[in-house]
Amino acid sequence: QTPARYQVTEATHIHDIYRPRKPFSHKGTFGHALLIAGSEGKMGAAVLSAKACLHTGAGLLTCHVPRCGYDIIQISVPSAMCLTDEQKDHSSVFHNNVATPEAASRYKVIGIGPGLGTAAGTAWALEKLLEHYHSPMVLDADALNILGASPHLLRKVPQQSLLTPHPKEFERLFGKTANDIERLELLSEKARALQLNILLKGRYTAMAFPDGSVWFNATGNAGMAKGGSGDVLTGILTSLLAQGYAPKEAMLMGVYLHGLAGDYAAAECSQEAMTAEDIIRLLGKVFLELR
Ligand code: AMP
Ligand code: MG
Repeated sequence: QTPARYQVTEATHIHDIYRPRKPFSHKGTFGHALLIAGSEGKMGAAVLSAKACLHTGAGLLTCHVPRCGYDIIQISVPSAMCLTDEQKDHSSVFHNNVATPEAASRYKVIGIGPGLGTAAGTAWALEKLLEHYHSPMVLDADALNILGASPHLLRKVPQQSLLTPHPKEFERLFGKTANDIERLELLSEKARALQLNILLKGRYTAMAFPDGSVWFNATGNAGMAKGGSGDVLTGILTSLLAQGYAPKEAMLMGVYLHGLAGDYAAAECSQEAMTAEDIIRLLGKVFLELR
């Protein structure tokens, strides 16, 4: 029996995917993630992603940020290590530190994009990174905007990577469509043709996979329609890949948990008052229920 092409993620799917931590595990068991994020004035995006990554269970996290973000990361996310560019700059040019074969191979997964900016040096560094890094990555926000501006780069993205555009970023990446149905078709077609896991954010986030299936997520609420929510999702997905979840499972699970933590945040302090930090804090409640 062939599975339905369109499905809705249910709690039981997530329970099946979830693997509790074994008692004799150590930090190496849960992977070393690298998060490349932030630029002057947008370091909050890097902080939120980094915290979400750690609160989802990655073993080790290194953040690569521009020089202006070094103290910010070290003070706000003490569990993470921090790498910066050598030159004094306000945008990220991570080439020296990351985009060499030796450096890239240190990390189980790379998440890139939140608050990154689209400076020429940053775009150049992303191109170099794609030449040397061949495992599935998480690409979000400005990393997607850079790809949208240089379409030849899209084909260099490692197969099985996770792309997480909101509707505007989706349009910059793949062009305009006449209506929602056409956009969904385009999403699915690109996931298959490029062998990438691509989601389209919204009230019911759609997730299209290389196998041709399309899933919808029903958790989450309008309290998440607020800056920072998406940066949290990037951290969660990067963390799940670091822990060895397969890309499709990581996307299904990460999007579901992110929305559920958002629902708990809204229940606790209202859709109006909740912020991305509440989503991160309530990831704990979500994991407790999964056990
Ligand atoms: P971003 O636009 O990158 O900050 O991402 C926003 C995140 O919040 C995505 O994961 C969306 O799915 C989620 N979100 C935003 N608005 C809503 C909504 N009205 N209902 C449910 N989830 C939402
Ligand atoms: Mg975003």
